[in-house]
Amino acid sequence: MEIANLIKTRWSPGAFSDHTPRNEEIYIQNIENIMMRVMLRFSLILLLLVPVSLIARGQPYIIVLGVAQDGGYPHMGCTKECCRSAWENPSIRRNVVSLALVDPVSQHWYLFEATPDIREQLHLFRQLTSGKYNYLPRAVFVSHAHIGHYTGLMQFGREVMNTDGISLYVMPRMKAFLENNGPWDQLVRLENIIPVEINDGSELAISEEITVKSFSVPHRNEYSETAAYKIIAGNRSYLFIPDINKWDKMNKDIISLVQSSDISFLDGTFYSQGELPGRNMDEIPHPFIVETMELFSREDKETKNKIHFIHFNHSNPVLYNKGIREEILTKGFNIAEQGHNY
Ligand SMILES: [Zn+2]
Ligand SMILES: [Zn+2]
Ligand SMILES: [Zn+2]
Repeated sequence: MEIANLIKTRWSPGAFSDHTPRNEEIYIQNIENIMMRVMLRFSLILLLLVPVSLIARGQPYIIVLGVAQDGGYPHMGCTKECCRSAWENPSIRRNVVSLALVDPVSQHWYLFEATPDIREQLHLFRQLTSGKYNYLPRAVFVSHAHIGHYTGLMQFGREVMNTDGISLYVMPRMKAFLENNGPWDQLVRLENIIPVEINDGSELAISEEITVKSFSVPHRNEYSETAAYKIIAGNRSYLFIPDINKWDKMNKDIISLVQSSDISFLDGTFYSQGELPGRNMDEIPHPFIVETMELFSREDKETKNKIHFIHFNHSNPVLYNKGIREEILTKGFNIAEQGHNY
């Protein structure tokens, strides 16, 4: 407005009417002033814009590479309603739970969980990031020794990728399990993977921008303990608890954990009791989605919105029932989507 007025007064016919040298000097000076002010304004706008775009470019983020429980979706041997369409239509199939943590600044990426679907997941990652990153992740975090979370490591061995020293962050029992049992011990011996011990409460700065805090959670720990993660990446933080016994068995308060994170990927294995007819669900305890929603029902909209359920068993209606999906969303919660950025 000010510049517009300035231009209007200086460039009004009156300003041209008296062409004495003195007036021309003033006139040129005025033009120079206007130019200076315009340029100053432009550079201020540029100064404001540039850092925003740099931050946007540099902010680490997560890509969900899989959302299913260990058995994947569709599930071996299942011809019921839950899996029927997924057998017929490959586009609705889902990989086993896994996350890619992407750091655009260091140009590295990190894989959370080495699943039986790792082949498809690394390909998916490459497609989604247009080949801008190394095909293999810089390091892998494996939460525990259930088949959906670690058996993808087999693809790193001599028979397939023959990888060279990929750091594998694992808790002590998981590390001992890999080092002392075939075929995993061969990956260690040949240094396809380098197991690095992390512990309950450890904080690992994997880059200037990213810190991964690990903590153990109660789960069926036959061969290893079970890790969960709080990932602090740039100005965002993520909670990743794919597999856990009921929330009240954890020695941390899940509500405060969710509140103190921006995005929480939480165990949503089963939607509700009775989902597996003929099977005792107490033997495979998980917090039902309906229980988690009930637990958070008195929390505000913002807190509920941070929760993204993940790790769905093939029987979970979240995978195939539109009505149930809508119900969860209407209550203010989210469902993790394979291939989406967070
Ligand atoms: Zn699992
Ligand atoms: Zn099924
Ligand atoms: Zn498990």
